[in-house]
Amino acid sequence: MGHKSWVGLILLLFTTLATSGVALADGETPPARDPKQPIDEAYTAKIRKYTTAPYFSSPLVDYLPASKSVPTPEVVLRDVAGAPGILPYAEDVYKYMRLLEKATPRVKVVSIGTTEEGREMIAVAVSSEGNLKNLEQNRQRLAKLADPRTIHLDDSEADKLVAESVPVYYITGTIHSPETGAPTALMELAYRLAVDESPYVRDIRDGVITLITPVVEVDGRDRMVDLYKWHLAHPKDFYPPLIYWGKYVAHDNNRDAMAMTLKLTQNVLNTYLGWNAQVLHDLHESVPYLYDNTVGDGPYNAWVDPILVDEWQMIGARNVADLTRFGMPGVFTHGDFDTWSPGYLMFLAAMHNGISRLYETFGNGGADTRERTLQPDEYARTWFRPNPPFPKALWSQRNNNNYEETGLLTSLHYFNENKRLFLKNFYLKGKRSIQKPSAEGPAAYVLPADDPRASVQADLLRIMLKQHVEISRSTSAFQVTLPVKKEKKSGKASDAEEKPKPAAPTSRDFPVGSYVIRMDQPYSRVADALLDYQYWSPEDSQTTPYDDTAWTFGELFGVQVTRVTDPKVLTVPMERVTELHPFGGVQGEGTVFAIDNHAEPALASLRYRLKEASIDAAEEPFQSGEHKFSRGTFLIHGVSRSDLDAATKTLGLHVVALVSTPSVKTHPVRVPRIAYAHTWISTQSEGWWRLALDNLQIPYDYMSTQALAKISDLNAKYDVILFPPVNENSNPNTIVQGTPTTWGNPLPWLNTPETPNLVGKNDSTSDMRPGLGWDGVAKLQNFVRNGGVLLTATDTSRFAVVIGLASGVTSNNSEKLKIVGSIVGTRLVDAASPIAYGYDEKVSAYCDNGPIFSVTSILGSRRRHLGPEMKTRPTGRGTKDDPDFVIGRPASDVPDEPEKELWEAPQPTDDQSFNNPRVIPPANRARVILRYADSKDLLISGLVENGNEIAQHPAVLDVPSGSGHVVLFSINPVYRGETENTYSLVLNTLLNFDSLNAGRKDADQK
Ligand SMILES: [Zn+2]
Repeated sequence: MGHKSWVGLILLLFTTLATSGVALADGETPPARDPKQPIDEAYTAKIRKYTTAPYFSSPLVDYLPASKSVPTPEVVLRDVAGAPGILPYAEDVYKYMRLLEKATPRVKVVSIGTTEEGREMIAVAVSSEGNLKNLEQNRQRLAKLADPRTIHLDDSEADKLVAESVPVYYITGTIHSPETGAPTALMELAYRLAVDESPYVRDIRDGVITLITPVVEVDGRDRMVDLYKWHLAHPKDFYPPLIYWGKYVAHDNNRDAMAMTLKLTQNVLNTYLGWNAQVLHDLHESVPYLYDNTVGDGPYNAWVDPILVDEWQMIGARNVADLTRFGMPGVFTHGDFDTWSPGYLMFLAAMHNGISRLYETFGNGGADTRERTLQPDEYARTWFRPNPPFPKALWSQRNNNNYEETGLLTSLHYFNENKRLFLKNFYLKGKRSIQKPSAEGPAAYVLPADDPRASVQADLLRIMLKQHVEISRSTSAFQVTLPVKKEKKSGKASDAEEKPKPAAPTSRDFPVGSYVIRMDQPYSRVADALLDYQYWSPEDSQTTPYDDTAWTFGELFGVQVTRVTDPKVLTVPMERVTELHPFGGVQGEGTVFAIDNHAEPALASLRYRLKEASIDAAEEPFQSGEHKFSRGTFLIHGVSRSDLDAATKTLGLHVVALVSTPSVKTHPVRVPRIAYAHTWISTQSEGWWRLALDNLQIPYDYMSTQALAKISDLNAKYDVILFPPVNENSNPNTIVQGTPTTWGNPLPWLNTPETPNLVGKNDSTSDMRPGLGWDGVAKLQNFVRNGGVLLTATDTSRFAVVIGLASGVTSNNSEKLKIVGSIVGTRLVDAASPIAYGYDEKVSAYCDNGPIFSVTSILGSRRRHLGPEMKTRPTGRGTKDDPDFVIGRPASDVPDEPEKELWEAPQPTDDQSFNNPRVIPPANRARVILRYADSKDLLISGLVENGNEIAQHPAVLDVPSGSGHVVLFSINPVYRGETENTYSLVLNTLLNFDSLNAGRKDADQK
């Protein structure tokens, strides 16, 4: 529909919609204002003015009720919610909410914690005066429903509580900072819920406690408002993109609901569970005009209760129906969002027996009113979207607020109408979580007391505590029976030899002090989901997974986690653990201190903490008395026993005192000076690396590629340059070139009077556009040649290969390969490399279609790989194993093709080596540290399709260049706080930066 024709339609619809109500079922409360309550005429007029067409509004929000005592959002905004040009800072939103609290007993504001940069987060409760007066009694009732053990799983007791309780519906806004509409919508919603006397809104107020966190990502909100103000001051310029949201991550702040690394995730979960809320409804803005993506598409997360799936469908379908009846176009609930990963903020509810919900409405990324042109797939009429959005429409922030508020009000109303059902479901989901051991199982997960990676185990357990999962510790040793693994039926059933023997049940012993995560607890669901394995079938009709397909924490952390179905485990004597007490410290007598290396990240923290101590790494395994030590074992001198004891107790590291220094080859473990490079294209992926280093208290100089390129002598200042991933779409050219500077205006990321919050605790520049530049490339090359170490991963590795920093390595992509955020198997190839210290032969790693590396021994050549057809004999005389011969001449021997594995560089032949300066000398060839597992062993958890494309290829490479090294990762070793198993591959590179050639085979060192 063209622009002109819908202008005419507006006038027509305006008159019909505004006067005619929607047909109602018997006994239904009309969604309309109370004619007896006066409206705020001026405010209402502005609502209508800023709404670009009447069908982009509803009878619930096209007016504002007047109040003599309660201020409208106008007192803070100086205009109405959703007005063009107006975006409030979090502080202004809070100011308004606190004015509401002062003006009416129907509003209560609480502080729920702070962000990484120290800004406050709040929650606003809106309900009837009576409900807010009785909050505590109500909370206690809800707490009993949340933990049915407190009422002995007694359904009739639950029914009584259900009848008396007021449910809590928790709404969270603007976790994604460029999605700017929610704060004003939620200010106005709070006003309406407190003031409106229409029966429709009164039902909600009397029946439900609406809890609102208007700004989830507070640090990012303030930066976004800064940028918008910059834009208003420079209306003709491009304005800088929001490169930093929170201190660490951008969009991924909505992927933290598993590892709980960010304050915002912790604060929202603590609030959600502290109030015993039933719903967590998170507001986003990326789809026209309202996509209730709660229902979305399959596959659904396999650990949610089917009761929840029904609730999604019920609320979602009703939501679409209500808004469709108002005549609002573009409202739907099915779409391409699959509900597989539990990483989203809303999933905190799904994993804790509540209801997760999410809206995508349509935001303008600011408060400008703009003409919006959609893509064909956005406006297509489909079976699930019979009333799609317009291909083109004038769109305002007010429209967006209308949709958000209308969606929320109808949701709240429907929720209230059915609250007994939802409260009973809340209880039932808790009860079924407690009954997990006897229903679907397992009975428990056990983490053994003798796991060699105790400090990493502790980190995993701390995440469980943040998730409010109950942990116990056994007070005696115990044994459990493990289930019989069914052998897969072999195709050759007739072959007697191939018949599988029936496997006997096995058992496993656990020592005293082992951790038991019982599944007979209300939050067993989240523990089960995080510790279990995932399988995403390559045949799944969903061909574009929305996010990661796997997250199995035992694998990603590299700690032992046993899924126990044997119910006997629940009778083991055990006690609750509410916090993890310090452990570790020095044992034994002697003056030389040894810490065995199990690739625990805490080792790196210790190295930095004991700056004055001298620490050496053993280059070979050794034995001392009873104790066996592995490669990379720390041998520590020059520190007092008491200092070492204190430091290792806080880090959870076990130290053994030895009587004498063992006779083993060692090299010093030194603290490198680290330059940490980021781009101005994206800081999303690198943010997780920064977070990990900060948590480990490893210092670094954080700088952009622009700043790096300006340092005249990198080697004089730094030993290692870390260049973490940029993002999945960045290509090498973008890293060098940045954003075009031949047109447009500079994009400053600076604190100015207009933008006081922009820089925060990150970085600044007068122009975000320039990239590393060719000067910077040359600087990097010199840095490495002069002995520096450059560490790259995924797309920065691709960059390093393409611009020629890593000779003898090629990097390819495969159209067929599909590894979507999965856990894959890798194998240690060179255990003597310091990068591999502490690792066993099999290493599980996170991979997201990483680059496919190959190594060569001739520069510029592709790896020679003889296919199987060349290894079989050609047609000719004799039997299959006989040599062929040529008539009329002596027989000749076929030279043996040197057997080389796929991850190895083939030896050049005599002919290839003759007078060939492009043959890479052995000592300059890439050293493969880890390779991807064979095709059949590649998939550990998640989705791997056509894995043979990457199977056996190098996963981590150490490439010598001049006197330095480029260390390349195809896997992403540091990701979302979930991959502690592979952190030490990075940390080992740091700590052994000047000894990376240790353990290189003699042949290679020539
Ligand atoms: Zn979003």
